[in-house]
Amino acid sequence: MKLILATGNKGKVREITAMYKDFEVIPYNNIIEAFEIIEDKPDFKGNTLIKARTVYEALGDEAAIVFSDDSGISVEVLNGEPGVFSARYGGPEASDKDNLHKLMDEVKKKGFSTSPAFYTAAIAIVCKEGEFTTHGWMYGDVIVEPRGDGGFGYDPCFVPLGYDKTLSELEDKVKSKLSHRSQALANAKPVLQVIKANREIRA
Ligand code: IMP
Repeated sequence: MKLILATGNKGKVREITAMYKDFEVIPYNNIIEAFEIIEDKPDFKGNTLIKARTVYEALGDEAAIVFSDDSGISVEVLNGEPGVFSARYGGPEASDKDNLHKLMDEVKKKGFSTSPAFYTAAIAIVCKEGEFTTHGWMYGDVIVEPRGDGGFGYDPCFVPLGYDKTLSELEDKVKSKLSHRSQALANAKPVLQVIKANREIRA
């Protein structure tokens, strides 16, 4: 079954493709030209639905199954920031590296060298059968010196609970067992299987 991903984020595309080997995962910008999606909701669920709905409408294909991920990191000593603003924390044009350094600088400015933090991922599925959302979370600590080259985004400063290495130092297979995204993807799989089974019955 084909899933159109409402993201061009290479880190997300890589992780979702690796975890969904039994689906054909196609980033939407392989089908239509990428465009800006305004994510103006106060929570991950609202923003993930905006992404999936907007891409579903832009595709103009009633049969499409559009899949989106809205995610981010919330840091305790920053009162939950950056949260839904994780992609834009370092400014509107910020790169992953700019965001990472801004986050570590803000923790340092508060006088800490580490803080409890968690990632959230919200997945939305939008298709003719309806709109569905699932969530996943990963808890740990952020540190103020980046370590490792794997993963993406804030991974060089995030040490998952029970580990002493950052997500960028750990092997991909460790992140794929623990992560917010893998939990949300696991929760979304049964929904996709029901959609698939119903389409097969009706075909
Ligand atoms: P979104 O694309 O609007 O959902 O923004 C997500 C933001 O959170 C981006 O800055 C990502 O780099 C960051 N982010 C989300 N998930 C992860 C992850 O698994 N590792 C590192 N950073 C992440």
